[in-house]
Amino acid sequence: MLRREVLRKLAVTPLFMAACKLKALGALAGNFSNSVRMPVLFLGHGSPMNAIEENEFVQGFRKVASEFGCPNAVLCISAHWETKGTWVTAMPQPKTIHDFGGFPKELYDVQYSAPGSPEMAKEVQRMIRSVHVEEDYSWGLDHGAWSVIKHLYPMADVPVIQMSIDYSRPAEYHYTLAAELSALRNKGVLIVGSGNMVHNLGMVDWKRLDEVGYGYDWALEARERINSAVLSGRHESLIRYEAQGRAFQLAIPTPEHFLPLLYVLGLTKEGEEVRLFNDKVLAGSLTMTSVKVG
Ligand code: ZN
Repeated sequence: MLRREVLRKLAVTPLFMAACKLKALGALAGNFSNSVRMPVLFLGHGSPMNAIEENEFVQGFRKVASEFGCPNAVLCISAHWETKGTWVTAMPQPKTIHDFGGFPKELYDVQYSAPGSPEMAKEVQRMIRSVHVEEDYSWGLDHGAWSVIKHLYPMADVPVIQMSIDYSRPAEYHYTLAAELSALRNKGVLIVGSGNMVHNLGMVDWKRLDEVGYGYDWALEARERINSAVLSGRHESLIRYEAQGRAFQLAIPTPEHFLPLLYVLGLTKEGEEVRLFNDKVLAGSLTMTSVKVG
Protein backbone atom coordinates (compact mmCIF):
# COMPACT_ATOMS: atom_id res chain seq x y z
CA MET A 1 0.00 0.00 0.00
CA LEU A 2 1.34 3.42 -0.91
CA ARG A 3 2.12 5.75 1.96
CA ARG A 4 -0.27 8.42 0.70
CA GLU A 5 -3.01 5.77 0.43
CA VAL A 6 -2.47 4.79 4.06
CA LEU A 7 -2.55 8.43 5.12
CA ARG A 8 -5.72 9.02 3.13
CA LYS A 9 -7.43 6.07 4.85
CA LEU A 10 -6.20 7.31 8.23
CA ALA A 11 -7.87 10.62 7.57
CA VAL A 12 -11.30 9.08 7.03
CA THR A 13 -11.17 6.40 9.70
CA PRO A 14 -12.53 6.64 13.24
CA LEU A 15 -9.89 6.84 15.97
CA PHE A 16 -10.28 3.29 17.22
CA MET A 17 -9.35 1.95 13.79
CA ALA A 18 -6.51 4.38 13.24
CA ALA A 19 -4.52 2.44 15.83
CA CYS A 20 -4.49 -0.52 13.43
CA LYS A 21 -2.84 1.55 10.78
CA LEU A 22 -0.12 2.95 12.94
CA LYS A 23 0.84 -0.50 14.16
CA ALA A 24 0.65 -1.84 10.64
CA LEU A 25 3.04 0.84 9.46
CA GLY A 26 5.47 -0.26 12.15
CA ALA A 27 5.11 -3.87 11.09
CA LEU A 28 5.80 -2.97 7.48
CA ALA A 29 9.05 -1.44 8.58
CA GLY A 30 10.01 -4.76 10.13
CA ASN A 31 9.17 -3.80 13.69
CA PHE A 32 8.03 -7.03 15.35
CA SER A 33 9.02 -6.14 18.86
CA ASN A 34 7.29 -7.94 21.71
CA SER A 35 3.79 -6.74 22.46
CA VAL A 36 0.59 -8.01 24.08
CA ARG A 37 0.08 -11.73 23.49
CA MET A 38 -2.39 -12.29 20.68
CA PRO A 39 -5.20 -14.86 20.70
CA VAL A 40 -5.36 -17.56 18.03
CA LEU A 41 -8.47 -18.03 15.90
CA PHE A 42 -10.00 -20.87 13.96
CA LEU A 43 -12.56 -19.41 11.58
CA GLY A 44 -15.19 -21.58 9.88
CA HIS A 45 -15.28 -19.82 6.49
CA GLY A 46 -18.14 -21.69 4.75
CA SER A 47 -19.32 -20.35 1.41
CA PRO A 48 -17.19 -17.74 -0.39
CA MET A 49 -20.39 -15.64 -0.45
CA ASN A 50 -19.78 -14.87 3.22
CA ALA A 51 -17.20 -12.41 1.88
CA ILE A 52 -19.95 -10.12 0.60
CA GLU A 53 -23.07 -11.14 2.53
CA GLU A 54 -24.29 -9.74 5.81
CA ASN A 55 -25.23 -12.56 8.18
CA GLU A 56 -24.73 -13.84 11.72
CA PHE A 57 -21.40 -15.46 10.82
CA VAL A 58 -19.71 -12.34 9.52
CA GLN A 59 -21.11 -10.51 12.52
CA GLY A 60 -19.39 -13.15 14.65
CA PHE A 61 -16.08 -12.48 12.84
CA ARG A 62 -16.40 -8.73 13.41
CA LYS A 63 -17.29 -9.20 17.06
CA VAL A 64 -14.32 -11.45 17.80
CA ALA A 65 -11.94 -8.93 16.19
CA SER A 66 -13.35 -6.21 18.44
CA GLU A 67 -12.38 -8.19 21.55
CA PHE A 68 -8.63 -7.59 21.22
CA GLY A 69 -6.28 -4.93 19.89
CA CYS A 70 -5.03 -4.60 16.36
CA PRO A 71 -2.33 -7.10 15.49
CA ASN A 72 0.97 -6.15 13.85
CA ALA A 73 0.19 -8.76 11.19
CA VAL A 74 -1.95 -11.80 10.44
CA LEU A 75 -0.59 -15.25 9.59
CA CYS A 76 -3.28 -17.38 7.96
CA ILE A 77 -3.28 -21.14 7.42
CA SER A 78 -6.04 -21.65 4.88
CA ALA A 79 -7.69 -24.88 3.74
CA HIS A 80 -7.30 -23.60 0.19
CA TRP A 81 -3.51 -23.57 -0.05
CA GLU A 82 -2.15 -27.11 -0.18
CA THR A 83 1.39 -27.73 -1.35
CA LYS A 84 4.22 -30.23 -1.28
CA GLY A 85 6.43 -28.86 1.46
CA THR A 86 5.55 -25.95 3.74
CA TRP A 87 5.61 -22.52 2.08
CA VAL A 88 5.10 -18.99 3.30
CA THR A 89 4.03 -16.03 1.13
CA ALA A 90 6.82 -13.48 1.01
CA MET A 91 5.64 -10.89 -1.52
CA PRO A 92 5.12 -7.27 -0.39
CA GLN A 93 1.68 -7.04 -2.04
CA PRO A 94 -0.22 -10.35 -2.30
CA LYS A 95 -2.90 -10.56 -4.98
CA THR A 96 -6.51 -11.47 -4.22
CA ILE A 97 -7.13 -14.98 -5.58
CA HIS A 98 -10.68 -15.85 -6.67
CA ASP A 99 -10.24 -19.61 -6.32
CA PHE A 100 -13.84 -20.73 -6.91
CA GLY A 101 -16.29 -21.06 -9.76
CA GLY A 102 -19.90 -20.21 -10.51
CA PHE A 103 -20.40 -17.26 -8.18
CA PRO A 104 -21.81 -13.79 -8.97
CA LYS A 105 -19.57 -11.15 -10.57
CA GLU A 106 -19.79 -9.10 -7.38
CA LEU A 107 -17.67 -11.72 -5.60
CA TYR A 108 -15.02 -11.76 -8.35
CA ASP A 109 -14.85 -7.97 -8.10
CA VAL A 110 -13.68 -8.11 -4.48
CA GLN A 111 -10.10 -7.03 -4.03
CA TYR A 112 -8.62 -7.31 -0.55
CA SER A 113 -5.50 -5.23 -0.81
CA ALA A 114 -3.82 -5.88 2.54
CA PRO A 115 -0.05 -5.69 2.22
CA GLY A 116 2.12 -8.74 2.74
CA SER A 117 5.13 -8.77 5.00
CA PRO A 118 8.42 -10.14 3.68
CA GLU A 119 9.87 -9.48 7.15
CA MET A 120 7.34 -11.71 8.85
CA ALA A 121 7.81 -14.42 6.23
CA LYS A 122 11.52 -14.40 7.19
CA GLU A 123 10.56 -14.55 10.87
CA VAL A 124 8.40 -17.64 10.21
CA GLN A 125 11.31 -19.27 8.36
CA ARG A 126 13.63 -18.53 11.27
CA MET A 127 11.20 -19.83 13.87
CA ILE A 128 10.43 -23.18 12.28
CA ARG A 129 13.44 -25.38 12.89
CA SER A 130 12.03 -28.86 12.19
CA VAL A 131 11.67 -28.33 8.42
CA HIS A 132 12.82 -25.82 5.85
CA VAL A 133 9.96 -23.42 5.09
CA GLU A 134 10.10 -22.21 1.48
CA GLU A 135 9.44 -18.63 0.37
CA ASP A 136 6.60 -18.18 -2.10
CA TYR A 137 6.20 -15.27 -4.54
CA SER A 138 3.34 -16.57 -6.69
CA TRP A 139 0.36 -17.32 -4.42
CA GLY A 140 -1.31 -14.38 -2.68
CA LEU A 141 -4.46 -14.44 -0.57
CA ASP A 142 -6.92 -17.22 -1.38
CA HIS A 143 -10.59 -16.97 -0.43
CA GLY A 144 -10.03 -19.04 2.73
CA ALA A 145 -7.97 -16.08 3.91
CA TRP A 146 -9.52 -12.93 2.43
CA SER A 147 -13.21 -13.90 2.72
CA VAL A 148 -12.87 -13.95 6.51
CA ILE A 149 -9.98 -11.55 7.22
CA LYS A 150 -11.85 -8.80 5.34
CA HIS A 151 -14.46 -8.92 8.12
CA LEU A 152 -11.81 -8.74 10.86
CA TYR A 153 -9.91 -5.86 9.22
CA PRO A 154 -12.14 -4.27 6.57
CA MET A 155 -9.68 -1.47 5.87
CA ALA A 156 -7.09 -4.02 4.67
CA ASP A 157 -4.59 -2.17 6.80
CA VAL A 158 -3.00 -5.10 8.62
CA PRO A 159 -0.33 -7.06 6.71
CA VAL A 160 -1.37 -10.65 5.93
CA ILE A 161 0.81 -13.61 5.02
CA GLN A 162 -0.20 -17.22 4.42
CA MET A 163 1.49 -20.47 5.32
CA SER A 164 0.59 -23.50 3.20
CA ILE A 165 -0.61 -26.94 4.26
CA ASP A 166 1.78 -29.72 3.21
CA TYR A 167 -0.64 -32.36 1.90
CA SER A 168 2.01 -35.06 2.04
CA ARG A 169 2.28 -34.93 5.83
CA PRO A 170 0.21 -36.65 8.54
CA ALA A 171 -2.03 -34.75 10.98
CA GLU A 172 0.57 -34.92 13.76
CA TYR A 173 3.03 -32.91 11.62
CA HIS A 174 0.65 -29.95 11.40
CA TYR A 175 -0.09 -29.97 15.12
CA THR A 176 3.57 -29.98 16.17
CA LEU A 177 4.66 -27.53 13.44
CA ALA A 178 2.17 -24.99 14.79
CA ALA A 179 3.77 -25.06 18.24
CA GLU A 180 7.02 -23.78 16.72
CA LEU A 181 5.18 -20.56 15.82
CA SER A 182 4.04 -19.91 19.37
CA ALA A 183 6.45 -16.98 19.96
CA LEU A 184 4.80 -15.05 17.11
CA ARG A 185 1.82 -14.53 19.40
CA ASN A 186 4.06 -12.44 21.66
CA LYS A 187 5.12 -10.34 18.71
CA GLY A 188 1.61 -9.12 18.05
CA VAL A 189 0.88 -11.61 15.27
CA LEU A 190 -2.66 -12.94 14.99
CA ILE A 191 -2.57 -16.54 13.74
CA VAL A 192 -5.75 -17.62 11.96
CA GLY A 193 -6.64 -21.15 10.86
CA SER A 194 -9.38 -20.98 8.22
CA GLY A 195 -11.38 -24.08 7.31
CA ASN A 196 -14.50 -25.88 8.50
CA MET A 197 -14.61 -28.58 11.17
CA VAL A 198 -17.48 -30.44 9.50
CA HIS A 199 -17.16 -30.07 5.73
CA ASN A 200 -18.71 -32.54 3.31
CA LEU A 201 -19.49 -30.67 0.09
CA GLY A 202 -20.58 -33.88 -1.65
CA MET A 203 -23.46 -34.23 0.79
CA VAL A 204 -24.54 -30.59 0.99
CA ASP A 205 -28.31 -30.23 0.62
CA TRP A 206 -28.21 -27.53 -2.06
CA LYS A 207 -31.95 -26.84 -1.73
CA ARG A 208 -31.43 -25.94 1.91
CA LEU A 209 -28.09 -24.21 1.45
CA ASP A 210 -28.86 -21.23 3.65
CA GLU A 211 -30.71 -23.14 6.32
CA VAL A 212 -28.83 -22.50 9.56
CA GLY A 213 -29.41 -25.20 12.16
CA TYR A 214 -30.09 -27.95 9.64
CA GLY A 215 -27.61 -30.81 9.98
CA TYR A 216 -27.61 -34.56 9.34
CA ASP A 217 -27.32 -36.81 12.38
CA TRP A 218 -23.68 -37.61 11.67
CA ALA A 219 -22.87 -33.90 11.25
CA LEU A 220 -24.48 -33.11 14.60
CA GLU A 221 -22.63 -35.99 16.24
CA ALA A 222 -19.26 -34.97 14.76
CA ARG A 223 -19.84 -31.34 15.75
CA GLU A 224 -20.68 -32.34 19.32
CA ARG A 225 -17.64 -34.59 19.68
CA ILE A 226 -15.17 -32.20 18.01
CA ASN A 227 -16.42 -29.29 20.12
CA SER A 228 -16.11 -31.32 23.27
CA ALA A 229 -12.53 -32.38 22.44
CA VAL A 230 -11.56 -28.78 21.58
CA LEU A 231 -13.04 -27.38 24.79
CA SER A 232 -11.60 -30.06 27.07
CA GLY A 233 -8.14 -30.07 25.47
CA ARG A 234 -8.33 -33.69 24.24
CA HIS A 235 -6.24 -32.88 21.19
CA GLU A 236 -4.98 -36.43 20.69
CA SER A 237 -8.44 -37.62 19.64
CA LEU A 238 -8.57 -34.88 17.00
CA ILE A 239 -5.07 -35.58 15.69
CA ARG A 240 -6.31 -39.17 15.30
CA TYR A 241 -9.52 -38.02 13.59
CA GLU A 242 -9.30 -40.82 11.02
CA ALA A 243 -9.76 -43.42 13.76
CA GLN A 244 -12.92 -41.89 15.27
CA GLY A 245 -15.58 -43.78 13.32
CA ARG A 246 -18.30 -43.06 10.80
CA ALA A 247 -19.43 -39.59 11.90
CA PHE A 248 -15.86 -38.24 11.67
CA GLN A 249 -15.26 -39.97 8.33
CA LEU A 250 -18.32 -38.26 6.88
CA ALA A 251 -17.51 -34.92 8.51
CA ILE A 252 -13.88 -34.98 7.31
CA PRO A 253 -13.92 -36.78 3.94
CA THR A 254 -10.73 -34.90 2.98
CA PRO A 255 -8.36 -33.33 5.51
CA GLU A 256 -7.73 -29.81 4.17
CA HIS A 257 -10.63 -28.01 5.90
CA PHE A 258 -9.96 -29.77 9.21
CA LEU A 259 -6.16 -29.38 9.42
CA PRO A 260 -6.21 -25.60 10.06
CA LEU A 261 -7.93 -26.49 13.36
CA LEU A 262 -4.92 -28.61 14.33
CA TYR A 263 -2.65 -25.58 13.84
CA VAL A 264 -4.85 -23.60 16.23
CA LEU A 265 -4.83 -26.42 18.80
CA GLY A 266 -1.07 -26.80 18.45
CA LEU A 267 -0.73 -23.13 19.42
CA THR A 268 -2.93 -23.50 22.52
CA LYS A 269 -1.14 -23.34 25.84
CA GLU A 270 -2.36 -25.39 28.76
CA GLY A 271 -4.87 -23.47 30.87
CA GLU A 272 -5.70 -20.90 28.18
CA GLU A 273 -9.30 -19.90 27.70
CA VAL A 274 -10.87 -21.66 24.70
CA ARG A 275 -14.22 -20.38 23.45
CA LEU A 276 -16.49 -21.36 20.55
CA PHE A 277 -18.52 -18.95 18.44
CA ASN A 278 -20.53 -19.18 15.20
CA ASP A 279 -21.26 -22.70 16.39
CA LYS A 280 -23.98 -23.63 13.88
CA VAL A 281 -24.61 -26.41 11.39
CA LEU A 282 -26.01 -25.54 8.00
CA ALA A 283 -27.00 -27.14 4.70
CA GLY A 284 -26.92 -30.59 6.31
CA SER A 285 -23.21 -31.31 6.13
CA LEU A 286 -21.30 -28.16 7.17
CA THR A 287 -20.53 -26.38 10.42
CA MET A 288 -19.39 -22.79 10.83
CA THR A 289 -18.04 -23.43 14.34
CA SER A 290 -15.13 -21.11 15.10
CA VAL A 291 -12.72 -20.99 18.03
CA LYS A 292 -10.99 -18.25 19.96
CA VAL A 293 -7.99 -19.30 22.05
CA GLY A 294 -6.64 -16.85 24.63
ZN1 ZN B 1 -13.32 -23.71 1.98
